[in-house]
Amino acid sequence: MRIAIDIDSTLHHYWDQLAEEARRRFGIVLPYDQQLDWGISRLRPEQLHACIAATHCEQSILAAEPYPGAVETVTAWHEAGHFVHITSHRVDDAYEPTTRWLERIGLPYDELYLSFDKVTRCREIGIDVLIDDSPLNLRGAVDAGIVPATLEHPWNADVRDEEDVISGKDWLTLATALEPVLLRD
Ligand SMILES: [Mg+2]
Repeated sequence: MRIAIDIDSTLHHYWDQLAEEARRRFGIVLPYDQQLDWGISRLRPEQLHACIAATHCEQSILAAEPYPGAVETVTAWHEAGHFVHITSHRVDDAYEPTTRWLERIGLPYDELYLSFDKVTRCREIGIDVLIDDSPLNLRGAVDAGIVPATLEHPWNADVRDEEDVISGKDWLTLATALEPVLLRD
């Protein structure tokens, strides 16, 4: 199988980094539990852009800690012969720090791709499963005939209800839920 895996809010808990930037820069609180859709209306677009840019600087990228079980799960998939495509909505300058982060946490992969259009790349390289927290990318995967999967976050509850999304509250339950898919030929 060919598996695409997002980074932010999929391999590590990105929300706390983003919320800390919003609080520090603009004094705006972003409660995780209240983020029920993809838009972040408490921040103006330029404020959100500034917060995202700050969380994608080298220091923040390298500081991220993976979710429990994420590295172990992906390592097992890679050792089982699955192709691992790491995909992130980051600017090109983040490429090198991201490779160093993946090395630091010991996550094996076959390709790292930074893009603002992940699903198109997934289609190009014949991805079978996309693990991504974004409702937009999950719906894009459905449309592309790619199996959508995600960690459960408040902002993707709707798409999980409406589409056939494989999900788990953590990496262990997600890995178990994906087992039958990964055993397909
Ligand atoms: Mg994400």
